[in-house]
Amino acid sequence: MVSYKELGLVNTKEMFAKAVAGGYAIPAFNFNTMEQMQAIVMAAVETKSPVIMQVSKGARAYANGTILRNLAKGAVEYAKELGCENPQIVLHLDHGDSFEICKECIDNGFSSVMIDGSHLPFEENIALAKKVVDYAHQYDVTVEAELGVLAGVEDEVSAAESHYTQPEEVIEFSQRTGCDSLAISIGTSHGAYKFTPAQCTRNAEGILVPPPLAFDILHAIEEKLPGFPIVLHGSSSVPQDEVATINKFGGNLPDAIGIPEEQLREASKSAVCKINIDSDSRLAMTAAIRQHLAEHPDHFDPRQYLKPARENMKKMYIHKIVNVLGSDNKL
Ligand SMILES: [Zn+2]
Repeated sequence: MVSYKELGLVNTKEMFAKAVAGGYAIPAFNFNTMEQMQAIVMAAVETKSPVIMQVSKGARAYANGTILRNLAKGAVEYAKELGCENPQIVLHLDHGDSFEICKECIDNGFSSVMIDGSHLPFEENIALAKKVVDYAHQYDVTVEAELGVLAGVEDEVSAAESHYTQPEEVIEFSQRTGCDSLAISIGTSHGAYKFTPAQCTRNAEGILVPPPLAFDILHAIEEKLPGFPIVLHGSSSVPQDEVATINKFGGNLPDAIGIPEEQLREASKSAVCKINIDSDSRLAMTAAIRQHLAEHPDHFDPRQYLKPARENMKKMYIHKIVNVLGSDNKL
């Protein structure tokens, strides 16, 4: 058993309480590589922001859970080296799909886990989440559960269509499971193709505008559970300048579209206290690598193209923290 406390990590309890009270949201950035970890830590230290580093099932399959845990431990030490005396870093399992995976992560240094039983019938979702909560809380590990289904595709998580969270279910669900936070479905979506052009309208410049988030559902949930931490998945904005760079330098991402940042800024001011961003990091990394290799066809040292990729991700993370989530200067 490796406790997250030995690694210098923290759980989400205190940071969520502060974020809900303060009207901002904590960034939850997915990571698979050392460069992503470095960019996340540099951005969090520069902006004095708490941060959640999260690991999906796909990340564990790609990079190995033990290596990722040690990268998170390294993240804490690296943050201190960069001058942050008391870094607030969470290592979170994203979309745990069984009790066993959650237990394995809790036993191996994660400070927070998500159990995603959102595809199950209500009673089974409750039973699974409660089992994970009962185990996790023995070790002071926090648990995120999910009610409602997001559309989109991300790693192994996929659904053809979304089902909005039903506000009338949230009180019973949170009370019976004892979960620490709740992921809800109000129109965000996984991946870089969140909406088809047919679901969107076009603005005066011909740019696709996705359907707005269901703020009425968010507000109804807030009324049922005042102050309870709410989580938004699938909240990349799919920056069109990065998509354009990718397409300019040999990529092919037609009609990639995300959630407008103004809507996420608005959501951050509510009980939404954790916003998940994964695709935007992938796009920032890929755009920088494609551009670098196109402009320097003689380069073959990975450090030559991973350095600008890391810089571009860091810039994106800082932008999210300062201009979208508002979690800067909250340490
Ligand atoms: Zn998700």
